[in-house]
Amino acid sequence: MIVDAWFTVQQIDEATYAISEYGHWEKVHSFLLLGTKKAALIDTGLGIDSIKRITNQLTDLPITVLTTHVHSDHIGSHGEFDSLCVHEAEEDWLISGIKGLSIDIIRKNIGRDITLPTPASFNPETFTPFQGKPTGLLKDGGEIELGERTLTIIHTPGHSPGHICLFDKSTGYLFTGDLLYDETPVYAFYPTTNPADLVASWERISSLKGIYKIYGSHNTLGLEPSLLNEVKIAVRYLRENDLAKFGTGIHRFSGFSVQF
Ligand SMILES: [Zn+2]
Ligand SMILES: [Zn+2]
Repeated sequence: MIVDAWFTVQQIDEATYAISEYGHWEKVHSFLLLGTKKAALIDTGLGIDSIKRITNQLTDLPITVLTTHVHSDHIGSHGEFDSLCVHEAEEDWLISGIKGLSIDIIRKNIGRDITLPTPASFNPETFTPFQGKPTGLLKDGGEIELGERTLTIIHTPGHSPGHICLFDKSTGYLFTGDLLYDETPVYAFYPTTNPADLVASWERISSLKGIYKIYGSHNTLGLEPSLLNEVKIAVRYLRENDLAKFGTGIHRFSGFSVQF
């Protein structure tokens, strides 16, 4: 097993790893999925340290990075990889950054509440999120073939316009990015979010069949699929009470919450 000063590597099964950053308050997870011909890296973490140092130890396969969405805590080490895919609705953000989002806020968030030593190369005062061109664009319903393992792209806007979930049919894993995780609220209260879209995306994933485990990008690693029943209840509640709009605050459900 890999022991690392910054990253925590947990093996989910023989061909799937979670690479987590528990030393930062956001408790970010990236995921490495191995096929027989290729590997997929779902997000590249905060960028405080080099995630490639970890993936190099786990596989020799060519790695394609699949971006759940272009927030700075998910694209940190994108610059270390040659093959980068993003949903077409966030291609512009990857190339030019998110308009209106100040670098000061990004630096403040990445630099606070850190509980593990960070490498000398990390300086929150000069930290700059990755910007660059993707090598591939993702569309709803598209498939990523890794060799005896196929990932399906599910466009799930709301938290951000080009947010995607990834469904791995061979294992039943659903990677939900920032659409669904536990402990802290899922966010849809800034201008680039859309509460009604987020609820529609929740509705969509809640009706998927064949899910064995849910992997969100923050907090607890691995959630039970029974959570999707609670998501159905949340969707109904938010719609019936006309709450899926900006300014309605934090809504708590059994096992997860959201802030609009
Ligand atoms: Zn996000
Ligand atoms: Zn996030």
